[in-house]
Amino acid sequence: MKALVFDGSLHLEEINLPQPRQDEALIRVKLAGICNTDLEITKGYMDFSGVLGHEFVGVVDLCSDETLIGKRVVGEINVACGSCEYCMNGMKKHCSDLSVIGINNRDGCFAEFVVLPIDNLHLIPETVPDEEATFVEPLAAAYHVFESVWVKPSSMVLIIGDGKLGLLISMAASSLGIEHTMVGRHPERFAMLDSNVNTISSEGQPDLKSCYDIVIEATGNEQGMALALSAVKPAGTIVLKSTYSHIPNVDLSRVAVNELKIVGSRCGRFEDAIRFLEKKSVKPVQLIDRIFPFDNALEAFDYAPGHLKVLLRM
Ligand SMILES: [Zn+2]
Ligand SMILES: [Zn+2]
Repeated sequence: MKALVFDGSLHLEEINLPQPRQDEALIRVKLAGICNTDLEITKGYMDFSGVLGHEFVGVVDLCSDETLIGKRVVGEINVACGSCEYCMNGMKKHCSDLSVIGINNRDGCFAEFVVLPIDNLHLIPETVPDEEATFVEPLAAAYHVFESVWVKPSSMVLIIGDGKLGLLISMAASSLGIEHTMVGRHPERFAMLDSNVNTISSEGQPDLKSCYDIVIEATGNEQGMALALSAVKPAGTIVLKSTYSHIPNVDLSRVAVNELKIVGSRCGRFEDAIRFLEKKSVKPVQLIDRIFPFDNALEAFDYAPGHLKVLLRM
């Protein structure tokens, strides 16, 4: 099968069709999304080598559970061992022997087929088109912010970063009725957001000094973390969604002096994202910038930096 492989350089190549085990399914990928994590991996993040990609929708092609064959699915990206201390305590994403498709020690979905454990699969309702279904993984990560932190009715909430993840977090917050402010570099993107969102362009060096109880950092760059540290109130919380390809050079003394909490937040529950998509209370397809045929995947990777969602159609 054809696959987009990263092994220090990125290239399309013909590789063997993966063989699912008894508890796994072989899925024919229909549509897949390029995420900033993929771009970071091509710069060395995670030291990953193999088939890239973790956001997809596909159809089950081969599986020991025959009722799943032909069904449209998305898949949770973390593959846990099931028997370590974390797995036994319901924290599979922190498994001590974790693999993550397209990110850590397991082939991803930028290929004609991908293999995942049956337990990782979620059926996609007919009313949710493929284009929306490819957003389930990042949208679940967006909703997870509001499981990571307790937002009170009086909380002043700031989202930093109007990239794909920041916009999804804003959409998720709006669907949950959470009032918030968004600061970003691309004011032209603010029109996608709910009209109740208070928006600030970061171009004018906004003065956000210590106004916010909860600051969600979703820029992926160190300026975003520096802004988060200056925008959060003493004793406030920074929710860190960014991963960085190099260590940010920021003033961590502020964390000690202002007694800040920094909460890391990664993957979320797919059920939540699917439910809100089904209810049409979030509309992430506005984020799609361009869809490339899989044969043009290298061109898509050249194009993706600085653009919103770029998809690959297999
Ligand atoms: Zn991602
Ligand atoms: Zn485990």
